This record gives sequence, C-alpha cells and structure tokens, in this order.
Amino acid sequence: NKITIAIDGFSSTGKSTVAKQLAKYLGYVYVDTGAMYRAVAYYAMGNGFITKDYFDKKGLIDKLSDINIAFKFNEGLGFAEVYLNSVNVEKKIRTLEVSEFVSTVAAVSEVRHKLVEQQQQMGKDKGVVMDGRDIGTVVFPDAELKLFMTASAETRAQRRYKELIDRGDAVVYDEVLKNVQERDYIDTHREDSPLVKADDAIEVDNSNMSLEEQFNVILDLVNK
Ligand code: C5P
Repeated sequence: NKITIAIDGFSSTGKSTVAKQLAKYLGYVYVDTGAMYRAVAYYAMGNGFITKDYFDKKGLIDKLSDINIAFKFNEGLGFAEVYLNSVNVEKKIRTLEVSEFVSTVAAVSEVRHKLVEQQQQMGKDKGVVMDGRDIGTVVFPDAELKLFMTASAETRAQRRYKELIDRGDAVVYDEVLKNVQERDYIDTHREDSPLVKADDAIEVDNSNMSLEEQFNVILDLVNK
C-alpha cells in the first residue's frame, strides 16, 4: 500500500537528498516544493517585481495566473526538473541570488495558496515523497509518515556552500551562512503557515550522520 511521506525542515537539512533516495527506493514520485517557490521567485526577479530594496507584491499577485510551474522527469538525472512557463529552470533557481529572494516571495499568501493547491493535486494518488516547509502541517496533514529534519546552522551552511562551489558558483561561506540564517528566520516568522514541526512528525537530526546512516534510519521509519 502506497503512502504519503512528508519531509519538512529548515534550509539545507538534506531533505531533498533523502527524499530522492526514498522515492527511488520505493518507486515513488518525488516533489521538491522548494523548487516551485524558487521558480516563482525567479519569475519575480526576471520581471522586475523584486530587487534588493523593492518588492511589488501586488504586481506579482496580479501575474500569478500567468505563472505555470511543471516538473518533467529526466531519465539521466533520475529526478524531475522544474519548468517555468515551459522553460527548464532547474539550474537557474539554485543560485544564491534566488535563495536571497525566495523566502520573501514564499511569505505571500496568494503564492502559497496557488502552490499548495498544485502540490495537493500532484500527491492525491499517494506514493509520493514531498519535501518542503509545510508539507506535514498544511499540504498533507494526514500523511502517513512525517519527518522533520534538523542539523546545526553551520553544518547546513557548509553543505550548501559545498554544493554552490561544486557547481562553479563564486560564493563566500559567510554569505551562505547568513542566507541560511535569514531564510530560517523568515520561514519561521511569516504570518501564513510558518515553518513548524507537525505534532506527529518524527525529528531526525542528521548533523552527525552519513548519508547512508540517515537513509537507513529513515527506511526503518518507513517500514514501521
Ligand atoms: O527547499 P528550498 O531550500 O529549496 O526552499 C526554498 C525556500 O522556499 C525556503 O527557504 C522557503 O522560504 C520556501 N519554501 C516554503 N514552503 C515550502 C518549500 C519552500 O516556504 N513548502
């Protein structure tokens, strides 16, 4: 019997890594909801709705019906890439610059409403592993398994820094750490569905776990 697996937690806690592993192992669909918020932020940046010192929230809200987000499975990569209005933006949404705007855009209720509805559609047949900030609390409050991933801010910033360097982005560690901390703050303090652990979510602190250990710990939980 297929179930719904909700994985929530702070930025760079390794949610997507374990979600991808699980989906592959179980033959489930993986949905990266952060990619959807990033795609909307990317759209907002590209269309001049948000800059460092300005956010035209109303302008963005008025354009929401023009924003179409879709996932297409890439056989070679083994996961689905995100498309914004039919353009593959998988790589473009992972920059530090997008990370600097995404939490502001994700705090807009109308944006959340649109994306949550789409996420509920994508997961309606179960057999899905979805990661984000509000999956166990808002998107699928009835999910059979809810995980809440945590790790220290430094561990998380180190991981994110390595990812950005590995993909060739010139970034400074202190800025990556600052961004992780800022997103944590905005995500936990926004008015609409702030990031909190669902009462029935199981907390997994992976600060000192290898990927293999983490996978085994979580697989045990799936099999319970
Ligand atoms: O998961 P990722 O770090 O890519 O998410 C980027 C940002 O999108 C988060 O920092 C958060 O502001 C927002 N987000 C959200 N709700 C989700 C997933 C992501 O608000 N379900």
